[in-house]
Amino acid sequence: MAKQDRVLVIGAGVVGLTSAYYLNRAGYKVTVLERADSVATEGSHANAGTLSSFRAQSWASPASLLKFLGGFRRKDSVFRMRLTRDKGFLIWCVIFLRHCLPGATTGINAELKALVIETQEMLKELMGELGGDFSLTQGGLYLVRSQDKIRKLQAQNGLSDSPGYARLLSAEGLLSLEPALEQSQIEFSGGVYVEQDYSADCQAFSSALGDYLRTKMGVKLLFARTVEEIRQTRQEVIVSTRDEDFRTDKAIICAGAATSLLSRNFGFDPKIYPIKGYSVTIPILKRSRVPSLFAVDEAAFVAYSTQGGSFRLASFVENAGFDRSLDDAAVEHLCNYASQVAPGAFDLGAAEAHACLRPMTPGGSPVICKPRPDCNIWINSGHGHKGWGICCATAKRLTALVEQI
Ligand SMILES: Cc1cc2nc3c(=O)[nH]c(=O)nc-3n(C[C@H](O)[C@H](O)[C@H](O)COP(=O)(O)OP(=O)(O)OC[C@H]3O[C@@H](n4cnc5c(N)ncnc54)[C@H](O)[C@@H]3O)c2cc1C
Repeated sequence: MAKQDRVLVIGAGVVGLTSAYYLNRAGYKVTVLERADSVATEGSHANAGTLSSFRAQSWASPASLLKFLGGFRRKDSVFRMRLTRDKGFLIWCVIFLRHCLPGATTGINAELKALVIETQEMLKELMGELGGDFSLTQGGLYLVRSQDKIRKLQAQNGLSDSPGYARLLSAEGLLSLEPALEQSQIEFSGGVYVEQDYSADCQAFSSALGDYLRTKMGVKLLFARTVEEIRQTRQEVIVSTRDEDFRTDKAIICAGAATSLLSRNFGFDPKIYPIKGYSVTIPILKRSRVPSLFAVDEAAFVAYSTQGGSFRLASFVENAGFDRSLDDAAVEHLCNYASQVAPGAFDLGAAEAHACLRPMTPGGSPVICKPRPDCNIWINSGHGHKGWGICCATAKRLTALVEQI
């Protein structure tokens, strides 16, 4: 392998940026092409911030199947499934259904968990190298609303109330760990505490990593460049925008939800489909009333975390193609949740809302591959609902794959 090989990374979300970092560390001359005017403007812009290993699982399961199907019927659900003639999405659904069979995702779930745990360590190291404040907070909660669910968690995961990887909490145990929840109007029966999980601000990290790549590592970041075509010639790969051709030795597609659009022009469909979500970021007025640990409320399908002086909540699963428009009802739903879980703690009038697309594969595994042996083109994408939590470990895998050539 010629270490001075030119590598062109397409997409400056958290996956493209971490890929650029580890490829540069491996000795490649890296350039990043991004269609927006700055880094992390799409999926990586305002996610829930959780780096959670405990629920690092595929969305396909017998239980979630009912929720997804319910989304076709109910208008008020956070699962908003629409009937569509989009052939790509219909094929995606069939594969998703296959993954909902009992036991079908056991291997994927184990892989996702390992990727998160590896990423947590790599991110801590990388954040130290970058310097700066990324709101890194240790400890995560999984909130439970019924005794029945507590019993199920106990049986399925072999959890107990003794210290260990994950500790079962009674209602009292939950309040002593997170006293801010005493004010909550939502009644929780308890939860699970995972000390080794984290939350952090993905956008702040991506922004600092972008600056670091440019100023300290000699990586070129070129913005306002929408890639339209990628093709392999005998000598090199040509990546074309409307106005320019970029010649490179290797190209890596990290285009998030848009990955399939690019890879299809050289004959590969990674089955990555955009699944829309919404988040709100609300300034905190009374810190003592706001939960300090990130949490996932599975019954409401909401995840939240504190990021600097703000509280971030995210939810919703919607098949809306590439539409990224905001929806007032979704924003109101998230703001209502915030005012119930921590009444009087926020400046709700100053909430900032964001709609973004998760790059989802039907089974939940990211796609890290070189689709065609005759093309020096790789894909690192399809990170779905876990892209922040698995970014570093997948970038390292991608780099190892590129180095094999
Ligand atoms: C509501 C919500 C909450 C989430 N919460 C969490 C969470 O708590 N924890 C977690 O781990 N994950 C979470 N995720 C998932 C995570 O945010 C994503 O998996 C991750 O951001 C994907 O990163 P990415 O770099 O692959 O995609 P993106 O961040 O979308 O980046 C792709 C980039 O490629 C660029 N691009 C696309 N096409 C082209 C082109 N043709 N030419 C040039 N550039 C192009 C885009 O402009 C974009 O900048 C959440 C997602 C959502 C939507």
